[in-house]
Amino acid sequence: MPQSLLPEFQVSRSDREQMLQQRGLVVWLFGLSGAGKSTLANELGQSLHKAGKLTLHLDGDILRGGLNQGLGFTKEDRLENIRRAAEVAKLSVQSGCVVICSFITPLEEMRGLVREIIHKDDLLEVYVRCSFATCANRDVKGLYKAAAANQVANFTGKDSLFEEPKIEPGLTLNTEKLTVAECTQLLASAVNARATILPGQ
Ligand code: ADP
Repeated sequence: MPQSLLPEFQVSRSDREQMLQQRGLVVWLFGLSGAGKSTLANELGQSLHKAGKLTLHLDGDILRGGLNQGLGFTKEDRLENIRRAAEVAKLSVQSGCVVICSFITPLEEMRGLVREIIHKDDLLEVYVRCSFATCANRDVKGLYKAAAANQVANFTGKDSLFEEPKIEPGLTLNTEKLTVAECTQLLASAVNARATILPGQ
């Protein structure tokens, strides 16, 4: 449909941001299963909430139970999983919300798709870095044990590739070296620097 025929809505993103006194931002956490994405998403959410900021969580495991139901772990399905999540994040950021996304996002192509969908001014990419061996040791969801027994198809880092980022993310958090509290502090300050409206703005 031509742009001129699309409906025009009178309440703008900036109106909403002024009301909330915050800037909309998508925080995209990526990394291996068990690297710490959900833990840090949760800690960040709490810290922002306490500071009076409106947040929304989009989590890979949760979306797969609803919006992305039926998608598997082939490359094609993983791309579609990420595409839909990024489109939802793009819409949600228009509300002025800080959208915290936790998705493995294993390939550069998928991170590229996120960058294509979400404008760079609205996106903070965060690599939650942790080795396969440590994630397997943590085995929070028992998936590494199941994958070792060949009970999980296309398991990331084993049968399905996880690529180290070639384009430097906005922030890298090494969860093998830093504590949850240290990672949360770094993450919260990176987010606050982007999502805060300064007086007079
Ligand atoms: P993911 O969401 O990436 O699959 P989870 O957040 O579910 O990973 O699990 C990460 C696990 O690692 C949790 O048990 C968490 O307590 C632990 N952990 C240890 N150090 C850190 C850290 N610095 N940041 C995040 N999680 C950590």
